[in-house]
Amino acid sequence: MFVTVKKRAILLVLSIIIAVFGVIFIKNRQPVQSYVLGKTVVIDAGHGGIDGGVTGVNTGIKESEINLAVAKCLKSFLVYAGYKVVLTRSGEDSLKRGKLKDMEARAEVIKKANADLVVSIHQNDYPLNSVKGAQVFYAPNGECREIASVMQKALNERLSSTRKEATGDYYIIQCSSVPSILIECGFLSNPTEESKLITAEYQQKVAYAIFCGINQIMDIDSIMNRSV
Ligand SMILES: [Zn+2]
Repeated sequence: MFVTVKKRAILLVLSIIIAVFGVIFIKNRQPVQSYVLGKTVVIDAGHGGIDGGVTGVNTGIKESEINLAVAKCLKSFLVYAGYKVVLTRSGEDSLKRGKLKDMEARAEVIKKANADLVVSIHQNDYPLNSVKGAQVFYAPNGECREIASVMQKALNERLSSTRKEATGDYYIIQCSSVPSILIECGFLSNPTEESKLITAEYQQKVAYAIFCGINQIMDIDSIMNRSV
């Protein structure tokens, strides 16, 4: 009799604990936004391996390292929100030896991913070290001008940038029919911007700004439902 009562008491306590944790879990879980469902984003961390891209003016840090850190952080934001994410590279190395073969391998990843959006992450460089700010590039055919503009606004708001989106004749944003943009997150030739870009905290801030831009792009049906 005593054992049965004790068992019942334990079961009751366990039920209460499960119920309480269940409510907390449901309350804390963000609902997946409808525009996220079934959407795949390819994140391309530019450069890699012997191709380090541009280097920091004071620290000599390779652009490829920052690109990868931002890409991985962006991936975690997107996955948490419910997107499917494919990285062109997830390690420090390039996909293939030789720039052309490497770029073709990235194009292959984009095609296989059946993606809805491609975002290529880079860091910029300019001879005049006062030049700064994040900038979004789209292919010269102009088809992705609108999504580039949406992303540029998201970056300007969150990173205190004042730049404007522009066309760029880059392979990665022209190698498929998937809507594609290339983001130069900042200038490694600007000492102040470099000092921010090398920190995990600012890399997260950049990734979050891009994440917000992607959400806005996906939420604009008129843009994403059109075959660009
Ligand atoms: Zn680059």
